[in-house]
Amino acid sequence: MTEDARDVMDFDVVIVGAGPAGLAASIQLKKLAAEAGSEISVCVLEKGSEVGAHILSGAVVDPIALNELIPDWKEKGAPLNTPVTSDRFYVLGPSGALRLPNIGMPKLMNNHGNYAVSLGNVCRWLGEQAEAMGVEVYPGFACSELTFRDDGSVKGVVAGVFGIAADGSHKGDYQPGMELNGKYVLLAEGVRGSLSKQVIAKFELDKGCEPQKYGIGIKELWDIKPEKHVPGQVTHTMGWPLGRKAGGGSFMYHIEGNQVAIGFVVHLNYKNPYLSPYHEFQNYKQHPMIKEVLEGGRRVAYGARAITEGGLQSVPKLTFPGGALIGCSAGFVNVPRIKGSHNAMKTGMMAAEAAFEAIQGGREGDELVDYSQKYRDSWVYKDLWKVRNAKPYWSKFGMIGGLALGALDMHLSEKFGFSFGTRKHGKPDHACLEPAAKHKPIAYPKADGVISFDRLTNVSFSATNHEEDQPVHLALADPDVPITKNLPTYAEPAQRYCPAGVYEILEEDGKERFQINAQNCVHCKTCDIKDPAQNINWTVPEGGGGPNYPNM
Ligand SMILES: Cc1cc2nc3c(=O)[nH]c(=O)nc-3n(C[C@H](O)[C@H](O)[C@H](O)COP(=O)(O)OP(=O)(O)OC[C@H]3O[C@@H](n4cnc5c(N)ncnc54)[C@H](O)[C@@H]3O)c2cc1C
Ligand code: SF4
Repeated sequence: MTEDARDVMDFDVVIVGAGPAGLAASIQLKKLAAEAGSEISVCVLEKGSEVGAHILSGAVVDPIALNELIPDWKEKGAPLNTPVTSDRFYVLGPSGALRLPNIGMPKLMNNHGNYAVSLGNVCRWLGEQAEAMGVEVYPGFACSELTFRDDGSVKGVVAGVFGIAADGSHKGDYQPGMELNGKYVLLAEGVRGSLSKQVIAKFELDKGCEPQKYGIGIKELWDIKPEKHVPGQVTHTMGWPLGRKAGGGSFMYHIEGNQVAIGFVVHLNYKNPYLSPYHEFQNYKQHPMIKEVLEGGRRVAYGARAITEGGLQSVPKLTFPGGALIGCSAGFVNVPRIKGSHNAMKTGMMAAEAAFEAIQGGREGDELVDYSQKYRDSWVYKDLWKVRNAKPYWSKFGMIGGLALGALDMHLSEKFGFSFGTRKHGKPDHACLEPAAKHKPIAYPKADGVISFDRLTNVSFSATNHEEDQPVHLALADPDVPITKNLPTYAEPAQRYCPAGVYEILEEDGKERFQINAQNCVHCKTCDIKDPAQNINWTVPEGGGGPNYPNM
C-alpha cells in the first residue's frame, strides 16, 4: 500500500491529545453548538491505549475551569471526591524538617477549595462526557505528521500508522494511517508535544519570548495503611536531598482509597551531568518523615512526565494558520502552585470558542486571533502574571534567596498588582548542563526494595509496553554524538536523566556503544529537552504503545 491509499476523514475541528486541554476544548465546542442549535463535528486523537493511560500529574486540582465547563460536575459523578483538608510546606534537612507557617505563604498558594485527585481518572470521566455529547474520541491513535494546505496552513494530521518494522519495511499488518483534516487543528499534546514542537519551529511561534523551561516529575502511587491515611492532606517539601545540586521539591497527596500520590520534581536547568533525578526521588523517600508514611504500605504504580515551568514569559504565540496550541503544548503551568490542569482546560475552552465563532462565520484554515485576545483578557493570564518572577528568582538565587524574593514578588503582585518587572529565564535547560570535568560523580545509595526501588523494577509498575519490531521512536539526528561528544564532555547524562533506564553505554569488544531500550520509554520527554546536543528527537511510536497508567 502507498501513502496515497490513506483514508481521509474531514471534521470541523481535529484535536490532538485527550488530556484536560483537548477534552475541555471538545466539550466546549459541543456545548456551544448545542446552545446555538447547530452541529459541529469534533474528533480527539490520543496515543495512549485508552484515555488517561498517558496522563501523569500530581494532582491537586483547582476546579475553576471545570466549574465553568460542567457546572453540575458533582451530580454527574466527576471523580473529584477528596477536598483538600490541610496544606503543609516543609524544608527538609537530612533527618529533620522545618514546617513553614501557612500564614507566610502568598494567598494564591492556599489549596482551600481544591481537590486531591487522579488526573488520569478525571480525564477518563471527561472523555465519557465528551463522547456522550457526540465527540469522536479515538484512543490508540498516535498523530505522527502534520498535513498542510497549499497556502501553508495546517490542514490536519496523519494518525494510526501501524505495522512498520524496525528496518523500515512494511509488515503484514501494515496500515498507512488516516488523514484527519479539520477546519482548525488544536494541538493539546501536553508538555513538549512532538507536533507542537514542529509547529512552533515552522511558524516561529516562540520568537521574542523567553525559552520554555521544564522540570521532570517522577511519581509513585502507594497503598498505605488506613491508620496513616489523612484524606485530603497535601504536603510539599524543598531542601534535602537536592540541597544546592538542583532546584525542585516533592509532593505527597492523600487521595481517595487509602492511597498517597508521592512525587518529586527536579528543575531541568541543573548543571551537574552526574545528577540522577530518579535517584534523588528514591533518596527523598528515605527521609524519616516520608518513610514513616510509606512503611507498611506498597508501591502500586510508577511513572514520570516533564512539566512546563517557563510560565508567562515563555508562552509562545498561540495561533498559527489553521490551528492553535492549547494547554501545556504552549505551557500554562503556574509553577509555585504546581498547577496547570485548570489553565490547560480554560485555554482549551477559549480556543474552542474562537474556533466555533470562526466556523459559524464561514472561516477555515486562518488564524484564530480571537483566542490570543481571550487569553490576554482571561484569569489564566492573571494567574500566570502574579507568579511570573518566582521561577527566575529560584534559578538565580537558589532555595532560600529565591524563595524569599519569589514570595515577596508574589505578595506584591497579588496585593497591589505591583512587582519588579518581568525577569528573564536566560538559557534553555539543555544549555545549562556543565562539563563533567567541573563536577564529581554522585554516589547514590542502593535501593532497599522496600521504600526505594531500582529503575527497571519501577518501570514494570508503569505497565509500559511497545511493539518491539518498529523503528526506534527516539530518533538521533547524528548517531555518533552520544559516544563522540556527550560521553567525553558530559559523561553522557542520558544514562541518568532518563527515569526509565532507556539509555545505556555498553562496552563491546573494548568499544563503547550507545544502547536505546526504546520499549521502556514512559513518554516523559526529558531526553528531548535535556540532551545537551539537542540530538534526540522524541517522535510518536505506534499508537497504544507507552505506559498504561491506572489512576496517575
Ligand atoms: C509530576 C507532575 C505533577 C503535577 N501536579 C499538578 C497538580 O497537582 N495540579 C495541576 O493542576 N497540575 C499539575 N501538573 C500539571 C498538569 O498535569 C498539566 O498542566 C496538565 O496535565 C496539562 O494538560 P494538557 O491537556 O495540556 O496535557 P496532558 O495532560 O499532558 O495531555 C496530553 C495528552 O495528549 C496525548 N498526546 C501527546 N502527543 C500526542 C500525539 N502526537 N498524538 C496523540 N496523542 C498525543 C498524550 O498521550 C496525553 O494523553 C503536574 C504535572 C506533573 C508532570
Ligand atoms: S527515553 Fe526520553 S521520553 Fe522516554 S522515558 Fe526516557 S527520557 Fe523519558
